[in-house]
Amino acid sequence: MTHVIDGNDVASRIENDLEDCLETLESAGVTPGLATVLMSDDAASETYVSMKQEACDEIGIGGFHRELDPNAPAEKLRETVEDLNDDPRVHGILVQMPTPNHVDSRRVLRNIDPRKDIDGFHPENVGRLVAGNPRYKPCTPHGIQKLLESADVDSAGKDVVIVGRSDIVGKPMANLLIQNAPGGNATVTVCHSRTEDLAEKTRGADIVIAAAGVAELVDGSMIREGATVIDVGVNRLEAETERGYDLVGDVEFESAKEKAAVITPVPGGVGPMTIAMLLYNTIDAASVQEDVPIDLP
Ligand code: NAD
Repeated sequence: MTHVIDGNDVASRIENDLEDCLETLESAGVTPGLATVLMSDDAASETYVSMKQEACDEIGIGGFHRELDPNAPAEKLRETVEDLNDDPRVHGILVQMPTPNHVDSRRVLRNIDPRKDIDGFHPENVGRLVAGNPRYKPCTPHGIQKLLESADVDSAGKDVVIVGRSDIVGKPMANLLIQNAPGGNATVTVCHSRTEDLAEKTRGADIVIAAAGVAELVDGSMIREGATVIDVGVNRLEAETERGYDLVGDVEFESAKEKAAVITPVPGGVGPMTIAMLLYNTIDAASVQEDVPIDLP
């Protein structure tokens, strides 16, 4: 029987444990604060930001939301980030990507105080991750490590193929998995749009992590019997549903499930974990900045 990992269940267990951390912080007079900055009128970005805010409200993290006109000058975003850097109530800052074309997103990320960069995208934090001493593990790859742990899939000594080399998922995932640390010690291959024979690579993998943003790119014929398959993709396919689309992953779930021993669904797999780990990093940031030790799950 294939084990379909319930990401909502794993995320809610982590959030329960985080509530204990919040109690410790509250009893020391600290309320963690997360600032979200949205400079876009893209519907998906708006949804992601509001999901993150709701999650903060539910657990008791202070929410500070700033919305900027997508046509405003880049300077406006820089000023907003600087304001938040200086605000002692804010322990974590998240600028929702993508930003408009006239904004240099790398420069924006460099402007965030690295101690408040709970996404882990500031060059200092990327460097620390690569050096094996991460300040904050980027949320999606960290969530995937927790999903593997929840299913008793030990990456040590395993061949892992990651499909996608983005700064948000593919690269930090590879960096976490090669580390000589729990949840690491894997032999990692990173595939991308120029990989010549993707199927040959994925077929050799004990663990496949699909993060290409291409609907149902990886099907059952590309999966080894008994493999673990983690689907990061979130793709909207036009459909005659109430909202006008269906959400599908980068994995063709039904055929991959026939082969896999462990698999994540879309939705309800990686997505809820990304949010849980954002809460995790914000609480971690508050604990460090306010010097109140906590026991993170
Ligand atoms: P991205 O567009 O930045 O990167 C996609 C990567 O996939 C690129 O490196 C590209 O080289 C590679 N790629 C594209 N087509 C390929 C192909 N045919 N074969 C092999 N590699 C190919 O995307 P991203 O930000 O990393 O996101 C990837 C997907 O994951 C998207 O669907 C995104 O919505 C989703 N995502 C989900 C979560 C979550 O929490 N569930 C979080 C982040 C991203």
